[in-house]
Amino acid sequence: MSLSEFETISRYFRRPKLGFQREGVVLGIGDDGAVVQPPAGASISMSMDLLVEGIHFPSKANGYGVGSRSLAVNLSDLAAMAAQPLCFTLGLTLNRLEDSWLQEFSSGLAEMAEKFNCPLVGGDLTRGPMGSPAVIAIQVHGIHPDSDPVLRSMAKVGDGIFTTGTLGNGAAALHAMGLDSHLGELDQSVKARLSKAHSDFLNNAYFKPQPRIDFAVAASHYMTACIDVSDGLIGDLGHILGASKVGAAVMIDKIPYSDAVLNLYDEQTRQQAALFGGDDYELCFTADKKNEAALLALAAQQSLSIQKIGEITGTQELRLLDSTGDIVQIEGKPYQHFV
Ligand code: ADP
Ligand code: MG
Repeated sequence: MSLSEFETISRYFRRPKLGFQREGVVLGIGDDGAVVQPPAGASISMSMDLLVEGIHFPSKANGYGVGSRSLAVNLSDLAAMAAQPLCFTLGLTLNRLEDSWLQEFSSGLAEMAEKFNCPLVGGDLTRGPMGSPAVIAIQVHGIHPDSDPVLRSMAKVGDGIFTTGTLGNGAAALHAMGLDSHLGELDQSVKARLSKAHSDFLNNAYFKPQPRIDFAVAASHYMTACIDVSDGLIGDLGHILGASKVGAAVMIDKIPYSDAVLNLYDEQTRQQAALFGGDDYELCFTADKKNEAALLALAAQQSLSIQKIGEITGTQELRLLDSTGDIVQIEGKPYQHFV
């Protein structure tokens, strides 16, 4: 069944689990604009991510996963700013309005929206030309009620470099789905080792990455710089180094991996996945070493693993070191849309 534009908005996007009320949002979907009223003195972070069918999610992906992923990757940018989510807007370009896809997609959005108390407050819906890919544009708005945003530009020589969770899952998930992942063709031996549990884990990691909002908000006063890992550790840590005009020594053996990635790949392949694969949506942040114990305790309180992987240096280059301290060369390129 095909729906009209206004039926679609009221049925799928204005529904209570998605367009819900929360403090600070005065007016949501329905007027010409939304109205927000953040706490007095709070600064606001805004961030937008576009997701294009065939590039940011597979064409055959189910609507639920596309919905949860679309909002999660945006919330991950708020986490990287240490912002508390407030609300989001949604721009959708679709070939046609298909009931079942919209139902799934909006439910996937709703799961993340409820979990992070981030309601949908408005948007736009347009028809794309026949055969064009679906395009999902989301803008998230976050607040900083009682702390400053954490920027990329404030890392200091001597700071520790930390990551949350495990890396390489995004690339492994794409690989397991048989899609372009930096890891080459999916060979039979990897396929044979892919258990149902690991396959489910990777699928979840890709379609439901968990933005590290709670940790970032709680730990922000210890962080000197932060970014989320969307394009691979080398590229994203590189952005912190460039913005802060510093270098880094990363201990390659300290990079944390999930059981699934450890089980599927040899050392070299998992390093490729973590360093160049992307789509992990974990945080990479820097902090003064004197705060390491406090950070570990905060993470433990939230049952989140964090790992110190290296140190900020004054050399303005990113060095990868093995366990004996020797420099290792690992070839690869971070993901870029236009090269
Ligand atoms: P206008 O014509 O004034 O630009 P629209 O007719 O496009 O407004 O939208 C009507 C209302 O529905 C607005 O409040 C708008 O923010 C909301 N809306 C439109 N598309 C979406 C969407 N994809 N998700 C959420 N809200 C939407
Ligand atoms: Mg209008």
